[in-house]
Amino acid sequence: MTPVQKFDLGLVDNVVAASIGKPGQRTFKVTAESGRGRAIVWMEKEQLFQVALAIRQFAVATDRPSAPVRFEPDLPPPRERTELEFKAVEMSIRHNQSTDMFTIEAANVDPDAGPEAEAEDEEDPVAVQFSFSRPSGVKLSEEAIEVCAAGRPRCPLCGGPIDPEGHVCPKKNGHHKGEIKFA
Ligand SMILES: [Zn+2]
Repeated sequence: MTPVQKFDLGLVDNVVAASIGKPGQRTFKVTAESGRGRAIVWMEKEQLFQVALAIRQFAVATDRPSAPVRFEPDLPPPRERTELEFKAVEMSIRHNQSTDMFTIEAANVDPDAGPEAEAEDEEDPVAVQFSFSRPSGVKLSEEAIEVCAAGRPRCPLCGGPIDPEGHVCPKKNGHHKGEIKFA
């Protein structure tokens, strides 16, 4: 298996959730952009929703640190501007308590899947991570939940969209596909 090429956009100034397509056939993406480049990560609605939910629940449950440490990732200067676009197979999100920054990591392969794993469409295996502040995270999560709901009624317990087929509520011990947990 080709080794996964890893990119780090550092602190992004812009992180946006969007969807394209007709209802029922929509595809979802998060676009992140910094001075180092841009990544467009396509994903399933459940993945986007889980990221949004994780950020929102975390932001509600924890106080901001009174004196966050400046976020200064030790990144080598980029050789060239990163331009990435892929469909996420694996996604994770983490939060750093001292800097109060969220970091999303996404890859087009599952790093734990073993040597037989292949990236979709025989793309080169890539992973990207990018970081953003708590206010940006809250904005992203609100936007993402809105995009996922797309005008449908929202569950009063978890804020998730209630589909015509029904709704499995994570607040009532329901489980979502592709559940994202904080690392
Ligand atoms: Zn719910």
